[in-house]
Amino acid sequence: MNSILLENITVVTMDDSRKVIENAYVAVKGSTISYIGTEKPNGDFDVCISGEKKIVMPGLVNTHAHLAMTLLRSYADDMNLQDWLFKKIFPFEDTLDGGKIAEGSIIGIDEMLASGTTCFNDMYFFEKETAKIAVQKGIRAVLSEGINFDGYDRKIKLTEEMLEEFGNEELISLAIAPHAIYTCSNELLKDCAGYAKKNGLLIHTHLAETQTEFDDCMKEHGITPTEYMESTGMFENRTVAAHCVVMTDRDLKILKEYNVSVAHNVVSNLKLASGVAPIPKMIEMEINVSLGTDGASSNNNLDMFEEMKISAILHKGITLNPTVMDAWTVLKMATVNGAKALGFDNLGVLKAGYLADMIVLDFSAPHLTPNHNTVSNLVYSASGSDVEYTIVGGKIVYNR
Ligand SMILES: [Zn+2]
Repeated sequence: MNSILLENITVVTMDDSRKVIENAYVAVKGSTISYIGTEKPNGDFDVCISGEKKIVMPGLVNTHAHLAMTLLRSYADDMNLQDWLFKKIFPFEDTLDGGKIAEGSIIGIDEMLASGTTCFNDMYFFEKETAKIAVQKGIRAVLSEGINFDGYDRKIKLTEEMLEEFGNEELISLAIAPHAIYTCSNELLKDCAGYAKKNGLLIHTHLAETQTEFDDCMKEHGITPTEYMESTGMFENRTVAAHCVVMTDRDLKILKEYNVSVAHNVVSNLKLASGVAPIPKMIEMEINVSLGTDGASSNNNLDMFEEMKISAILHKGITLNPTVMDAWTVLKMATVNGAKALGFDNLGVLKAGYLADMIVLDFSAPHLTPNHNTVSNLVYSASGSDVEYTIVGGKIVYNR
C-alpha cells in the first residue's frame, strides 16, 4: 500500500470548525487520509514531504467543464454567446473526433493538475477518450456525453458502453448531460431525467445562462427556464446546474426545494457578457453553490484560484458590500461544496478516513508573504502556479 507523510505543514482542513492546524502531520495510506494531527505518526512512509512554509488543503473541485475545449483556447474571443456558440463553436466541434478529444483532454488534465484541481465534472463528446486519459493521469472525474438535438439514443448507448468499461474504475463516475433547454426538446429532457433516475446518475446541465435564453423560454413556454426544467422532472435527480445567471426569486426557491447544486462560472459569464449570477442571494438561501471554469474557450484557462478570486471580488463590487463572499465562503465553494454537488460524502475536507485528494502549495513566494491569514492568502493572493504537489486518491500525480 502506498504511503505519504507531510511533515510540519500548515493544514487547511476545510471542516466546519474552520480549523487551520500549524506544524501538523498528514499521513496517507492507500487512497485515504489515515492521520492528521500535531504528533508525528509512527511507521515508515514511501514518501516524506517537508512542509516548511507550505500549505496543504483539499484539492479543488471544478464542477463545470468541457475539458477538450482546450483545443479552442483563443479560437473565438470577444463575441456574444449566440454568435460564439452557433457560428464558431458548434461548427468547430463538428470536426472533432476521438483522437482530437484525447489531445484536448491531455492538455486540460495537465493544466488542472498543475493548478490544483483534483476532480472535475465534464460534459463533452467522445468522453470515453477523456476517461482513458483521466485514468492514465490519475485525476478524479465525473464524465458525461453532452446530449443535444436528436442525439439521445447514440449518447445513451455511449454512456452504457462507458458504464461497462469504467464502472469499476475508482476515479471515474458518470453523469447524464442534457446540454440546455434551448438545444434539447421537451421529450429529450424528460428522457434524460428518466434515464438518470433509473440508473441513479447525476444530471449535469446548463441553466438560465443568458437573458436571451430566459426571454425565449418565457415567449415559447410562458415559464422561466428553471420552471421549465423543473416541469421535465429533471430536478428529481441530483443535479448540477451550470450558470443560473437569470433567476427569479421563485426560480431560486425551486433550486433550494430540489437541492439543485449551482456551478458558478464567473469568468465565463463575464467574458461572454452573460451577466452575473445572484450568488450572494443563493448562499443566503443555503443553496449549494460550487465553482466551475466552463470550457477553456470562454475562460480562457482552467485555473480555479482565478475563479475563486474573481467570484469573491466581483460580488463585493456588484452588491457594494465587501463582507459578502468572504474568503472562507469562496474556498468552501471550490472544495466542500463542489464535492457535495457531485455526490461525494468523503471528499472536499481533509479528515482521517476521507479520500486523499489534496494539494500542497509553496507559501514562500513574495506574493504570499507575510501570511497573516492563510485562507485569505489562498483566495486573494495565490494562483494555480503556486501548487507544488497534487495528490489524488493517495497518489502524487503532479510535482512542480
Ligand atoms: Zn458550459
